[in-house]
Amino acid sequence: MMTISGKSVFGGVAIGKLMFYKRNEKVIKRTHVDDVDAEWQRFVAAKDKAVSQLKELHDKALEDVGEANAMIFEIHQMMLEDLDYLESIENIIRSQQLNAEYAVATTADNFAKMFSAMDDAYMQGRAADVKDVSERVLDILCGVSDGMQEMTEPCIIAADDLAPSETVQLDKSKVLGFATMYGSSNSHTAILARTMNIPAVIGMGEELKQEYDGKLSIIDGFTGTLYIDPDNETMTKMQDKRSKDLEQKALLEQLRGKENVTKSGQKINVYANIGNVSDLGAVIKNDAGGIGLFRSEFLYLENTDFPTEEQQFAVYKQVAETMAGKKVIIRTLDIGADKQVDYFGLDKEENPALGYRAIRICLTRPEIFKTQLRALYRAAMFGNISIMFPMIISMKEIHKIKEIIAEVKDELTREGIPFRDDVELGVMIETPASVMISRELAKEVDFFSVGTNDLTQYTLAIDRQNSKLDEFYDPHHPAILAMIKMAAENAHAEGAWIGICGELGADLELTEEFLKMGLDELSVSPAMVLPLRKRIRECE
Ligand code: PEP
Ligand code: MG
Repeated sequence: MMTISGKSVFGGVAIGKLMFYKRNEKVIKRTHVDDVDAEWQRFVAAKDKAVSQLKELHDKALEDVGEANAMIFEIHQMMLEDLDYLESIENIIRSQQLNAEYAVATTADNFAKMFSAMDDAYMQGRAADVKDVSERVLDILCGVSDGMQEMTEPCIIAADDLAPSETVQLDKSKVLGFATMYGSSNSHTAILARTMNIPAVIGMGEELKQEYDGKLSIIDGFTGTLYIDPDNETMTKMQDKRSKDLEQKALLEQLRGKENVTKSGQKINVYANIGNVSDLGAVIKNDAGGIGLFRSEFLYLENTDFPTEEQQFAVYKQVAETMAGKKVIIRTLDIGADKQVDYFGLDKEENPALGYRAIRICLTRPEIFKTQLRALYRAAMFGNISIMFPMIISMKEIHKIKEIIAEVKDELTREGIPFRDDVELGVMIETPASVMISRELAKEVDFFSVGTNDLTQYTLAIDRQNSKLDEFYDPHHPAILAMIKMAAENAHAEGAWIGICGELGADLELTEEFLKMGLDELSVSPAMVLPLRKRIRECE
């Protein structure tokens, strides 16, 4: 048995096979082939397999995210059957006597360049699609699997580190837990593990070796330990620990339907954070009073191109309808820093956390922002949606946002498209600047939600992604608590309400203090809703 220690980011015990996350690292060579007929048939077989994979993806997406979102996989199938595309590949194989991999890669490049050069924005967007479908065929031809495509049974995922875009694309029903070599407790990957309610241990360093791939393992998410090839004694101990944990969770179930109220009668709303419609089940199961943060950027991270207005509308509508009148706070796109999306074409930056991200992208690329706002205002007809803006630092930004909202409303009115006019608007308090101007901000918006993850990063000047700094990262720092208190006083002075949607909201050591500050809401990962309710009910 091997025992490796790391940092726990979510409790619980997971037992299963360890599987290393495989990235797509193929090298395309240009080689001469003698039998061009056989080479063409090799391509046709790979293409047919890719089409059937896309059919399966389409059916799965249809169930998970609805018809509008699933359509992309149908378009991808059609692209693989496109006559011009096939002719180009066949021509390279037959006339130049070259291998199928080279023919596919060259055709993909040529078609992508051709699409990019077109005037029409829709056709330009197809460049990413043709590359994407060709990559799928190349994976099959080269025999590599991308990510976890080959996962047939639920596994514990091991990796050096996982990017948020990789994490969101994992098949959640097959992930028992995460074990990574690097990463920090405040990264979005750690946040996703908490949202997905799975045991996770990070920062195990070089001791987590590739040679453990396929071995039976146990994650103890309470102590931050990974056991490889566990002996009988450890297995029995861990099975026991897992049963006790499940019993505790069952006990918490009794708090479903109960109020979030202290012994002296003070009430507070407890909402849940989500990144995806597939998290809705956990929200309902854990009896959250609403959604305090829908990180809408994950919609962009899951896609290979900008999600259209219709795709976004379908998702926001589904969330609003599922929550049936309960509050759903959707945060506008917070791309940038660690959340990178290729098709945004963002430049590499020296200091991405201090760079071009979130509202800064939205205000300088209003066409992206407007598409999202149109979808949000339309979807607001179907439930209780509030809109929240990230990374705010100035009043100028609020004025600009309001101008853009007015334009969006005008456009929808002119087009005769129904939308809800009186949507509640809020801002995230996650920069020291927003705290210092919170009295002014509170006059302009209906609510604040404190993003303690970034507020801590920017106040303490500590990169939340850098695990070397974890010992200096003190979310209980008096400066952070003073800032939350100040924002709360200013919000209430102007008749606005205030909550916390950063990870600190789930810190049960601070619940009493947050109640004393008079916070109106705490939004936490779905699995933390009932433990937080329990803590609130114990408070005086
Ligand atoms: C935060 O910064 O606390 C927050 C909730 O936003 P995110 O973690 O997505 O940056
Ligand atoms: Mg943030």
